[in-house]
Amino acid sequence: MPFRESKFKKSPEIELQKKEEKVEPEIEKVEKEGIKKEKEFKKTAKEDLEKARGEANQAYEKEENIFEKEPLISENFEIYYNNEIKNILEDGDEKRFDEVKEFVDKTLGSKRDMGGEKSKIYLFSDKEKYSKFLEENFPNIRPEPATFDKETKSVFKYVSVTRKEEIEKYKDLLQEKGISEEEIKNTTRSGIFSGVGHELGHLHPFFGGVGNEKSESKWEQEMVCIFIGEKIRTDFGNKRFRKHQFEQSQKEFRELEKKSESFSWEETGKDWQGEIKNWEGFVYPWLEKKYGLEKLQEFWQKMFKEGKTITKAVEDVYGKDIDKLEEEFQTDILKAKDYSLK
Ligand SMILES: [Zn+2]
Repeated sequence: MPFRESKFKKSPEIELQKKEEKVEPEIEKVEKEGIKKEKEFKKTAKEDLEKARGEANQAYEKEENIFEKEPLISENFEIYYNNEIKNILEDGDEKRFDEVKEFVDKTLGSKRDMGGEKSKIYLFSDKEKYSKFLEENFPNIRPEPATFDKETKSVFKYVSVTRKEEIEKYKDLLQEKGISEEEIKNTTRSGIFSGVGHELGHLHPFFGGVGNEKSESKWEQEMVCIFIGEKIRTDFGNKRFRKHQFEQSQKEFRELEKKSESFSWEETGKDWQGEIKNWEGFVYPWLEKKYGLEKLQEFWQKMFKEGKTITKAVEDVYGKDIDKLEEEFQTDILKAKDYSLK
């Protein structure tokens, strides 16, 4: 019988050696592949991430470009604007926004605590960009020419800028009316502060920081904000607009007299979003002039905080029937020489 070598090679030791020879290269192969795969994965993932980062950055830069400028920083605000608006604003105007805030506080008789935070003011001179910005970032806000967001306490304003070409086009007409380029610029500038002041009114804690929601009557809030905004507009130098409103008010009253028609401060339901007559914009200025700001603030309190009707609030604060006060108002407006109500 031949000698069977295999008999000896079947020992566990030999088996192990065989296995090692077979399996070890396989493990090594899989490991190498694993490392390669891991590297590949890391590389792709990294590339993906970088691409996404790049895209996000681009989008961010594009968004920043809407404003073209770094925001102006004041004590209470961060003001976003573009080059076109920069031409309208004057150096140091950021401080004027703080003054507007102070004016709103003073008029309402309560200081708005900013809680160490700055509110944002966004000024747009491009209508399309304005609506797009609101649509993308604040989809619940209606793109009114000026509006606010109660969550972020931001103010948004579309600024209608009269461009050089337009001024050139209507040069003769403007000259005829005695309107200079400087006045056009100032009209726009006063409009910015007036609009911002109006919206800051809506945002004020005096109205619970709730905007218009709780308002049933325009006298409670909208007319207060109009009062604030128009005062700012006039103070910033746009006297022509106020003069026009005043002349229209007198005209409105004369026409009513002619037709023996009466008017009323009272309104039916929530109609503050409706048209506001010129004379209505003089009710609060007149009450302030004749009976003082404190009484006027008390009057607003009665309506907004205590939910009283305008009729009841007039009785409580001025001690008169509303008809009597309305009559007094009409007489004084018709007698007044100009919008200062003297
Ligand atoms: Zn308003």
